[in-house]
Amino acid sequence: MLNYKFKIGTKIQCSNEIPTSLIDSKGYALKFYCTNCQTPNKFLIKPYETGYSIDHLFLENKYISKAELLQNKVVQIPPKGYEYLGELLLDKINALYEICNCANCSKTFILVFGCGELQPGRESLLISGIWNIEKSD
Ligand SMILES: [Zn+2]
Repeated sequence: MLNYKFKIGTKIQCSNEIPTSLIDSKGYALKFYCTNCQTPNKFLIKPYETGYSIDHLFLENKYISKAELLQNKVVQIPPKGYEYLGELLLDKINALYEICNCANCSKTFILVFGCGELQPGRESLLISGIWNIEKSD
């Protein structure tokens, strides 16, 4: 977990395709290269198990501000009629985050994603992205 305020850095390209529907209970491995040491990294998303609510990050501006998350297009404000789901969403589902570290050099990244029914009866996995994060003062 984080114990410091941070800023969103550059976005990292995933090196594999993740299906957007057909939730697989075994989960989906997201692959990306560390921007510091180029080591291939893998992070397993298990739908409805992995991730913490993004609210934890911006409540009371504890780790980051809502404005910074919006500016960097990490999340969006809810569309009309979906405000009850939360202050910041991914499309129409709750936004979750995970902090991950490079397996080799321990560089820290944030991964933002969401799982839910975008359409009735159709479970979706949305990946907003992986970003480098930087300590801020
Ligand atoms: Zn690394």
